[in-house]
Formats: sequence, structure tokens, C-alpha cells
Amino acid sequence: MEGRILPGVDLDAVAAGLFAGLAEIGADGVGITRETYGAGEGAAFDLVEETARRHGLIAVRDAAANLAITLPATPDGLSPTPDRPCVVVASHLDSVPQGGNFDGAAGVVAGLLSLLRMQADGLAPRRPPRLMAIRGEESAWYGKAYIGSSALFGRLSADDLALKHRSGGHVLAEAMAAAGADLARIRAGERLLDPAAVAGYFELHIEQGPVLVARTLPTAVVTGIRGNVRHARVLCRGEAGHSGAVPRWLRRDAVLAMAELMARLDEHWRVLQEQGLDLVVTFGIVGTNPAEHAISRIPGEAAFSFEVRSQSRDTLEAFYHLMRTEARAIERARKVEFVFDRRLDSQPARMDEGMVKRLLALSGRLGLPVETVPSGAGHDAAIFANEGVPSAMIFIRNDKGSHNPEERMDMADFRAGAELLHLALCEATGGEVAA
Ligand SMILES: [Zn+2]
Repeated sequence: MEGRILPGVDLDAVAAGLFAGLAEIGADGVGITRETYGAGEGAAFDLVEETARRHGLIAVRDAAANLAITLPATPDGLSPTPDRPCVVVASHLDSVPQGGNFDGAAGVVAGLLSLLRMQADGLAPRRPPRLMAIRGEESAWYGKAYIGSSALFGRLSADDLALKHRSGGHVLAEAMAAAGADLARIRAGERLLDPAAVAGYFELHIEQGPVLVARTLPTAVVTGIRGNVRHARVLCRGEAGHSGAVPRWLRRDAVLAMAELMARLDEHWRVLQEQGLDLVVTFGIVGTNPAEHAISRIPGEAAFSFEVRSQSRDTLEAFYHLMRTEARAIERARKVEFVFDRRLDSQPARMDEGMVKRLLALSGRLGLPVETVPSGAGHDAAIFANEGVPSAMIFIRNDKGSHNPEERMDMADFRAGAELLHLALCEATGGEVAA
């Protein structure tokens, strides 16, 4: 795709314009902030929709305020049926607070370039390609990931819709309604897209870990996506007291109880990993109550977040069970109480073996690495895969990780990944040059 100028479409210029526009929309002085079902995500959706329309593509919003784009030659891609299924290519446009510009956006831009190229080449694919910008992929804003894709398959619960914004202010349902979503249809659990009407799902994404950089791979094909089990807030309740006056045997120190739980779980993690299990454990938010904590006060309360991720459902369940068992043992030993908020689950997902094979073959044809990696981070592809849609992902090398302003993607790597996506999409849609 490098330097390719099609009749009336300079794809490099379209990509550069979109990335620059998205960076401008998200600029927060430190990194990029495009809030889930908020102003930044909304403006990013408008930019992509406007760009697609300007180049003659058809764009519509669904009842969850997701954006769907298709070729004018195959408008039925917007209302696919099991008899005439579409092929979805998708990613998201929201970001974490102070994140980077390419997490999510790279996949939407690559998908748009592919559709523009099909249009310029006069392709009329047998299976309509359907580009989707999916809402609310990041969990940073409401504590739940994959909001737009869950809504797409009628899988947002009343509890999900009542999740509070990270500021503690409004709830998810209010933000969705303000963005134009049809809450009545979502509350009813209506399927906005029939999984049987989707022949395949492709997502290109920057890698969010250090593996591709360390192995000097510009691209790789994803084998599976780790699921997770989380608690946004676990409260450990002990008893406050004077730090000088209460002896050790009479203390109910919430921080030491919390720390012991973390240390025990870290040790379990080490042992399980040595046994070859796929597992990562994180306590990302930890704190005492600043309104009452002091150097000279035994902490009566400590709160923390809990997250475990694995490609295996069994490993997730086993580790979660272990965590609750250890918490009960510490409650007894230290006379504290652990209070868990709602458990949040994201299921792990396997990518489609046939699609992975095709992507590897096409990688070889393009002179790209024929390599696979697992995805440690979650993606909308997991939702589609768990609905039974054959799904596959392409990773692009990305320096400095993601979910931070230092995230870096080389445009040459992006072009290579976009080229691979385009070939895969042409193949999966059965694109043919129109007579
Ligand atoms: Zn992402």
C-alpha cells in the first residue's frame, strides 16, 4: 500500500489525515483521551464517518451507536442475513485516560483503507465487507470492557447499564443515551447483529506488550485472547487504633491483611506459572482512606482492585477460587473482613484456526514474519469469537506498550499490517473485479 495512489484516493494521505485528526480530538496535554460514550469518542466517530462518506462509502449508526460502513456496491452489508453474511473488520476509537493515539484507531483506519481500496479497484465482493467502529472497548471509564460489542449481541445486563462512571457521577445508560443509543432495544437484550449473518471477523491492533519489539517482528498473527476476572474494589475492614498503644496481638490491621493476601497470591502465581499455566495477576489500585489515614494510625480500612487474566477458563476459575479461599483464611487469622464488589468476567477466546492459517500464508506471501502470539489484552474479537463468529487478529509492533502516551507505532509497520489485512479481507469476502 506504500505510496499507492488510486484514482482520486491517496491512501497514505487518508491514513495520515485520520491519525492527525484523531490525535487532535484526543489531545489532553499529556496523551490522548477519548472517553467511552463521551465527547472524544463521539468526535472520533464523526471524523471517521465523515471521511468514509466523503469518499463515497455508506455509513450508518446502529442502536448501540456503533458505526458501520460498507461499499456502495454491496449496501446489503449493513443488513446481512445468514443467507448473505457479511465479513466484519473492526476495532474501537475510545482510549484510556492519557493513553496513546493508535490503540484501537489503527484497526479502524486500516479497515477504512481496505474498503477504499476495494472501491477504487472496482471490487464487488460476494460477501459484503462491513467496517465497524465499535463503542466502549476500554474498561477504564465504567469498569467494563467491550460495551459496544456486548450491546451488539444483546448482552448488556441491567447491572452493566447501571455501572457508574469513574468520576462517580452519571451511569453508563445515561452516557449511551446521550450518544444516540436506543436504550429500549438494548435493555430488551435485542440482537442488533445476528452472529449467523457474520461469516468472519478481522481486527488489526497494535500489540500492547513488548513481544514483537523484543523479537523484531513488524506483524504477527494472534492465536487467542486472554479473558479475565476482576473486582474493581475489594474493601478490607479491620480496626483503626493508635499506632503506639495497640500491641501486635490485639491489632486488626487492614493494610497488613491486604498485603498478606497479595503476597500469598503472588506465590501461588509463581508456582502455577512454573507448572506451565497461562496466568497474570494484578492489583492495580491500592489505597487507604486519605480522609482518615495517618502515619500514627493503624489502618482500619484498605481497598484494592483485583484482576486475573488467562487464555484458559479453567485457570481463571481455579485462581479465583484460590483467592477467595486465601481471603477467608486471612479473615480468620487477622480478624478482618474482605468485602467484594460485583465480580466482572470477560471470557477468554480462541481465534479461528483456519483464519490464522490463511493469515500466516498471506504473511509469507508478503514477506512478513510467519509468527503467532497470544493476546494478553482483551479485544472486541473475543466477543465475536464467543458468539461463534470465526475471528482472527493481526498485531502490529508497538514500542513502549499501550494505555500510555509513550505508545509508538511505526507507519511502515502499519502499512505492512494494513496490506495483510486487505489481502485477508479480499480473500474472505471473495472480492472480484467488477465487469
Ligand atoms: Zn484496544
